[in-house]
Amino acid sequence: MQLIDGKEVAAALRREIATEVAEMVARGERTPHLVAILVGNDGASQTYVGHKEKCCGEVGFRSTVLRLPAETGEADLLDEIERLNGDDDVDGFIVQLPLPKHIDEQKIIEAIDPRKDVDGFHPENVGRMVMGLPAFVSATPDGILQLLRYYKIPTAGKHCVVIGRSNIVGRPVANLLSQKGWDCTVTMCHSRTENLAEVVATGDIVIAALGKAEFVIADMIKPGAVVIDVGITRVPDPQKKSGFRLVGDVKFDEVAPKCSYITPVPGGVGPMTIISLMRNTLRARQLR
Ligand code: NAD
Repeated sequence: MQLIDGKEVAAALRREIATEVAEMVARGERTPHLVAILVGNDGASQTYVGHKEKCCGEVGFRSTVLRLPAETGEADLLDEIERLNGDDDVDGFIVQLPLPKHIDEQKIIEAIDPRKDVDGFHPENVGRMVMGLPAFVSATPDGILQLLRYYKIPTAGKHCVVIGRSNIVGRPVANLLSQKGWDCTVTMCHSRTENLAEVVATGDIVIAALGKAEFVIADMIKPGAVVIDVGITRVPDPQKKSGFRLVGDVKFDEVAPKCSYITPVPGGVGPMTIISLMRNTLRARQLR
């Protein structure tokens, strides 16, 4: 079994991006500028935005975080988005999800200029991605593909079982892996799938993105399978200073010995997600 080290891959890609940014600066060009909008005080969202800010610094991007109060109205947020769409100093921006209940997330996503939509959530980017056209691909699916590429894991003709059909992970990664170049035969499972365990057990590659801690157990995994664990669940742990620890969707200790490759949680897909956001931002800068 080989551990897929997301931190190592992320560090390698981070160095590549930093080199490109240094070259841009040497040519006298402006560095890429990423803006994150954070509405409210959700703990996990604050952590994610903090990581994104730190990563921007590491690759040489300019980064701005707009912190808005939880009671910000939808109209005010739409105004902010319009302002960023028209700001020539901003190459890409993201609105950290989830948003407070009184704001319609879909409306917000659709208000973002697709050319600055570095999260790849706008329907135009999703549509282009599905058609195999150049697009901003959302960060987590792209991060998963980068891990498979880095470890040269064969995908052509392999049966890939994706558990989860969300718009940000399951559905796009299932689509991408079915496309030319990856050439997987893909099965997408969800909460209504019958005989889930039997289906998962036929997967040469299993991507778990359902958000249920340690759901995937050894009996569901074919010997030699590649297992990519996307799930992140906070589980109370009094021994940790934070009061919790992060757990994936895969019961790592019993599944790992059966696999050819497996991602840990944390340190697998997580670090890649941020790097893919940086890759999209660099591309947004280059396209402008
Ligand atoms: P989601 O809740 O939007 O979607 C979960 C999907 O899983 C749904 O499509 C649902 O049908 C399916 N599902 C739920 N219960 C199931 C069951 N018992 N059997 C089969 N399918 C089931 O979640 P999401 O946003 O796609 O995120 C999934 C997980 O990945 C979460 O733990 C999230 O925190 C994590 N995540 C991690 C990263 C990262 O960077 N590593 C990024 C995004 C999401």
